[in-house]
Amino acid sequence: MSRDAILQQIAAAAGEPRLSHSGVTLVAVSKQQPIERITEMLDAGQRVFGENRVQEAASRWPDLRQKYAGVELHLIGHLQSNKAADAVALFDVIETLDSDKLARALAAEMQKQDRWPEVYIQVNTGEEAQKDGIAPRDLTGLLATARELGLKVSGLMCIPPQDDLPEMHFALLHKLAARHNLPHLSMGMSGDFETAIRLGATHVRIGSALFGARPQAA
Ligand SMILES: *Cc1c(COP(=O)(O)O)cnc(C)c1O
Repeated sequence: MSRDAILQQIAAAAGEPRLSHSGVTLVAVSKQQPIERITEMLDAGQRVFGENRVQEAASRWPDLRQKYAGVELHLIGHLQSNKAADAVALFDVIETLDSDKLARALAAEMQKQDRWPEVYIQVNTGEEAQKDGIAPRDLTGLLATARELGLKVSGLMCIPPQDDLPEMHFALLHKLAARHNLPHLSMGMSGDFETAIRLGATHVRIGSALFGARPQAA
């Protein structure tokens, strides 16, 4: 789908027919996409992008940023503490904080680099054993730790379980964000972003619906 078509769907789901008034940010998920597809999207005016791997993002975004002003880069994949330095240097929003250990690693790097990207906490709303993110009951504790460390926590992020209806997960994330006064809610992907917006998403992470299917790894 074209970027304009996606933006129109976002605006319609948000109940806002005029694009420029949409309060929902499209995060274009460019992971695994070839550089030409990304530059097309930049040329079309897109500036907010999501990547799930620090290394892949580091291999191309510094160059792209030289050519395009105003890029805002979100880390949407799991972050290991030992990659905190690269993540802090590169990303504007780190959406996947999910442990005290990572919070400490990020805070140490942010201080060292004097660079303070925004942070969202990833919540494992389905409490799936194999999935990243913190259990809902542990959110209050992690949030307190992160704030004490000086992290700029401004939102929550979730990826609902594949086999569930996403509604209850989006609703739970919304409730948790409201309880903790967090303004940003990153939820909704290609298949369910309109539902997520109706349940309060401020950031939707859209890959395949925007770029087409990701190329298969060779
Ligand atoms: C890949 C990915 C997306 C985008 O998924 P699509 O279904 O292609 O829109 C969104 N969020 C995260 C965390 C991802 O890893």
